[in-house]
Amino acid sequence: MENKIQLIQSKKGKQLVLLNFNKYRHVRTRKDGMHKWLCTVKTCYASIVTDGHKTSIVNIIGEHTHESNSLVKIERQILRENCKRQAEDGISTRPIKIIRKELMNSVMCSVVPY
Ligand SMILES: [Zn+2]
Repeated sequence: MENKIQLIQSKKGKQLVLLNFNKYRHVRTRKDGMHKWLCTVKTCYASIVTDGHKTSIVNIIGEHTHESNSLVKIERQILRENCKRQAEDGISTRPIKIIRKELMNSVMCSVVPY
């Protein structure tokens, strides 16, 4: 898991932590200087602890009760489906077309990082 965090501003100007497509709001600063953050989804109790500089994750507590806001994930899925479908459609077209098409498909598919 990628443990690098991103600090963002909420609409209200509060600091939020962005980690793995989930946003966390600041809960409190612990006695040891670490910061506790809670998922911004109201029904979710997943929380994280960052170091005092808010640069790295110290601890991840609990599981999210919802899907992550993973746009990238969704886009990858759509792209993958498109690649599959196009390859299947190629059966009825002429060989040169299929090859060209598949080459384009493979280029398109390979640019997507998994
Ligand atoms: Zn959550």
